[in-house]
Formats: sequence, C-alpha cells, structure tokens
Amino acid sequence: MQTPLEQTYAAAVPELSVPWTADQPPRPEIVWLNEPLARELGYEPEQLRGPEGIALLTGQIAGTVAQAYAGHQFGTANPQLGDGRAVLLGERLAPDGSRHDLHLKGGGRTPFARGGDGKAPLGPMLREAVIGEWLHALGTPTTRALAVLTTGEQIAPRRGVTPEPGALLVRAAASHLRVGTFEYAAWHLDPEVRERLVEHTIARHHPGADGPLGLLEAVARSQAELIAQWMLSGFVHGVMNTDNMTLSGQGIDYGPCAVLDEHRRGAVFSSIDRGARYAYGNQPGIALWNLSRFAETLVPLIDPEDPNGAVEQATAVLEQFEGWYLAAHSRGLARKLGLPETLAADEVEALGEELFALLEAQHVDHTGFFRALEEGEAERLFEEPAPFEEWQRRLRALGGGQVAEGVNPLYMPRNVTLERALQAAHLGDMGPARELLEAVSAPFLRRAEWEHLEGPGDGGEDFMTFCGT
Ligand code: AMP
Ligand code: MG
Repeated sequence: MQTPLEQTYAAAVPELSVPWTADQPPRPEIVWLNEPLARELGYEPEQLRGPEGIALLTGQIAGTVAQAYAGHQFGTANPQLGDGRAVLLGERLAPDGSRHDLHLKGGGRTPFARGGDGKAPLGPMLREAVIGEWLHALGTPTTRALAVLTTGEQIAPRRGVTPEPGALLVRAAASHLRVGTFEYAAWHLDPEVRERLVEHTIARHHPGADGPLGLLEAVARSQAELIAQWMLSGFVHGVMNTDNMTLSGQGIDYGPCAVLDEHRRGAVFSSIDRGARYAYGNQPGIALWNLSRFAETLVPLIDPEDPNGAVEQATAVLEQFEGWYLAAHSRGLARKLGLPETLAADEVEALGEELFALLEAQHVDHTGFFRALEEGEAERLFEEPAPFEEWQRRLRALGGGQVAEGVNPLYMPRNVTLERALQAAHLGDMGPARELLEAVSAPFLRRAEWEHLEGPGDGGEDFMTFCGT
C-alpha cells in the first residue's frame, strides 16, 4: 500500500489531464470489496479496509488527475468530454509486473463536469461491478471494480423524486486510453502530442506494434476479439460511443448495458438509444465505425507527406476488421457448440447463422440454449422442435454437441434479477447484490441455492435500462 501509485500517463502527455482531487466524502463505507482483485493487485484486503486504504479508495492521496477526452456520442462529435465525475488515482504495479489504472468515479465535479453534479448513485456503481465480474469470469477482457463505497450522502435522483445513496466506484483498468483520447488530441492539440500519445499507447498495450499504422491494427484486432465475445455471450453494451471504447481492448463503462434473454439481433435496452444505433446485432459494425474515427486521428501521423496514401493504408487495415471479427467469433462459437477446432470458420458461421435464426424465430433464450445444449436437453426449449432437430443432426455430423465444461455459463446478470438486486441495495439490503456478484463470478458450476438465478430471464422485449448512471 505504501508504494505510491505511478502516473506515467500524466507524465507522458501532461496536456491530456489536469491535476484534480476528488471531494472528501462525509462518511465513506465500503459496501463491496473485490478481495480476489485486491490480492491480484498486491493489496491485502484488510489494508484496504483500514484508514490508509479508505484514503486511497476515496481519492484522498497526492497526484490524482482528471483526464481530458472527446468523443462521438451516438454518432455526433463532442469536442469536450473528459472525466466529469472521476479522477485517475494513478497506476498500480501488480506483483506479476502488470500495470493497472485505478480510477475513482463519483467523487464530485471536475473541470470537465459541464452540467453534471459529479455524483454517482449506488445502483449503477454496483451494476458496473456485477457486469465486470461476469465478463471477467467468462474470460472477456474488461475493466473491473476493486471496490464500491457509499459516501454517506444522499444525492439528487437521476429519475423520480426519491434521493439516492451517493456512491463511489474504484475501477481497475489496463488503462483509460480511449478512442476519445486521440480525438481530443487530434481536435485540440499539436500533432506532436499525438505522437507522444501513440508512443505511450504502444508501449503500454501493444508493444509489438510498429508506429501509428501498427497501433491501428493492434487496436482493431483487440476490439474484434472483444466484440466477438460480447456477441457470443449475449452482451449489449448499450452506449458504444468512441469515448467508451478503449485502446487496450477491455470493455469499459457499463451504464445502460443489458444481456439478451431471447436471442434478438435487434435487441435494444437503453431508453436513450432511440435510433437503435447500439442494438445487439449492430455492435460489430459500430466497433468498425469507431475504429474509423480512431484511424482519422492517426492519418496525419501515418504519412504527413502523403495524406491520400495514408488514408489508403489505414483503410487497408480497417478492411481486415471483418475477417478478424469472424475468425474470433467462429472460434468462440465452435467452443460453445463443441465443434472441432479444425472445422473451417465459414462452416461454423453458416451453422451459427441458422441456429441464431432458429432461436430468434422461436423466442429461445440465448444463454439458456447453449447451456441446455451442453446438458443434452436443448430440444425442450423449442416449441416446434423439428427444425432444431434437423439442425442438431448437422451439428453432430460435423462432430459437434459435446461441449467442454466452463464454456457455457449457467449464471449471468439477468436484466430483471440485476435490477431487483440494485433496487434492494438502494433500499439498504446488499444481500441480493452480493449473491449475484458471487454467482456471476463462478458462473459455470450449478449450486442448489442459486436455482432462482438460473434462466431463462423474464426481461423480454420490454426491459429497459435508463442512462441514470
Ligand atoms: P458516460 O456516459 O458515463 O460514459 O459519460 C459520458 C460523459 O458524461 C463523461 O464525460 C462523463 O464524465 C460525464 N458525466 C456523466 N455523468 C456525470 C455527472 N453526474 N457529473 C459530471 N459528469 C458526468
Ligand atoms: Mg464513459
């Protein structure tokens, strides 16, 4: 604990942050501490619960900064975003040598707060914790919550009239470098800053990458892997703005996110996503759109002498995104269906497309299907089993159907279950949220006491998340 956090980001690109200290909360209290993650980071949980730990977790330490970034929100450029209610505490070197940003959300207004109050309510901070632990348990790259605290104050409600408990989220991330960080540098700062930013990003996340073009490729490949995993696990991020897309390839900012119950390509859960821009089935295309915005910030660095040539080179990289995505998706789908690794990607995808059409036509639960397949009882999920049985015969003919354990989860943060747990926490009962955190962290092994957490979900088409994050 005594080792102070590092700030290599602020040192490398001081133009992209301002020194800033979070407000001191009146009565901070840890409501959830991620003990396994604490240990991975080299902290003893008991240390973090003590006075020095609370000072760290509430941002009452030296050297913290608020980061500047811009972004495209729902397709529209916003030149001025940034950490409006968050500070970067610093970087922690874990005992295994890995570097992690520790970031505090909900610590009051910063110079980037615009009209916001700088606060965070308890429910959404717990949601971030639950979603992060679930994705992590599935092996999906993600930021994770180290701790959720209440501040001891009531804050203005995001919806309705009842004040909500104010909360803090301490998040660990590979970094908080985002597409929006590059957009800010491109729109407001000298190209020389962007060059330093490229160097810093490469050193930190993609050490094999050769210059800006190599960085574009590495980021595109890591996003292809990430989105493929979201699609396979039925995750709908809900707000894939460029400021919410990391350069490390980790998922970040789980606000109005949700999970599929019934498989539906057009599933949208966020009340503010009226145009269905961030629908489940659009996620790969949106990732490519965001990567194109990233590429635009790099073009002047790729070849300052020949802008047209630079655009062509960047385009050639982006044109490979679909192939990278399909390779990752088919690899993961083959695992979920128990197909041999040697089967060609297009055969896996063809089988997958038919399956997903069947699931959608017969309103079958996405996660429930894969688990039932693994357990040899998927037929029962189809009202009209004949087309499924025909599909299953082909799956078996291709050598599929015997799924390894630890691939298809049983537990997940079902929309309705999660919402109820957050509501209970809001009213002072942390029991359901703790139970859900435990179940999604060990999602593969059935436990009798968690029967009520098994699917299918009953959120259906009407479930909605609100951007009250
Ligand atoms: P998000 O949708 O959480 O990714 O946030 C988008 C932008 O709004 C970021 O610049 C946030 O810092 C800012 N923001 C969100 N909520 C608040 C708040 N309550 N106070 C100040 N800024 C906020
Ligand atoms: Mg964000």
